[in-house]
Amino acid sequence: MPDLALLAIVFGAIPLAAILVYNLRSLVLNRREATWGFLAGVVAFLGLSHAMAAVLANHPLFGDAWAATAVSLLGLLTGAGIAWLLLEGPFIKGVPNRIVWAAVAFVGVHSLGDGLVLGRSFIGGVPVDPVSVAATIAHRFVEGCLIIVPALWASWKPKLALPALFVSLVAIPAAYLPGSIYAAYGPSSLGITLQIGIPTFVAAMESTLGLFLLVRALLPMAAADHGRRWLVWTAVGYIAISLTHFFVE
Ligand SMILES: [Zn+2]
Repeated sequence: MPDLALLAIVFGAIPLAAILVYNLRSLVLNRREATWGFLAGVVAFLGLSHAMAAVLANHPLFGDAWAATAVSLLGLLTGAGIAWLLLEGPFIKGVPNRIVWAAVAFVGVHSLGDGLVLGRSFIGGVPVDPVSVAATIAHRFVEGCLIIVPALWASWKPKLALPALFVSLVAIPAAYLPGSIYAAYGPSSLGITLQIGIPTFVAAMESTLGLFLLVRALLPMAAADHGRRWLVWTAVGYIAISLTHFFVE
């Protein structure tokens, strides 16, 4: 079995490769319906389907419906609040920059969740086979593109966009969290509550961040030219990212 450090670092760092998309600048900017439509499908799956599925699946595991609901609700409100501040608040000037920062927040929270899943499955032993490795690389690369496509549109220089991709590295400390909680609290009730509560809060946050990013940024961008192809690309993105998840989680 490979060690957690190696897996976590590779996993955390893959999205950085999306900086290479800067070489395809004109292709990305000219094929607006395809790129934004595809990303809309990806975020619809990651935020609305995958993250919310985690919230719902964790709900009965708390053993206390009120606590489960409170943690989930807090996560939903926090994600919505952050997304609102970034997309509508007074802090960031210009729509293109707002979209980049909302995408950075989404990828950061998603990476936190991904890291927690990796760390948790590591306690039980991770099966590493070529298919799951390829699926993981593809899925993490696309997450980097979620930042790079808006950054290209906002005319960010690569030297600014690369540090923004570093947000995906939060997956590395997150991968260690389940193990350290287990080491500190073991299977006590506090330990179990933390092991379930933290990922639930993070997934709930991700779902509302994804909702806002989707409906306020990605879909309007994809549909801005009143074209008829973006919907096909949204379906392609949704189905493609679903397929990669059949092999990783
Ligand atoms: Zn992911």
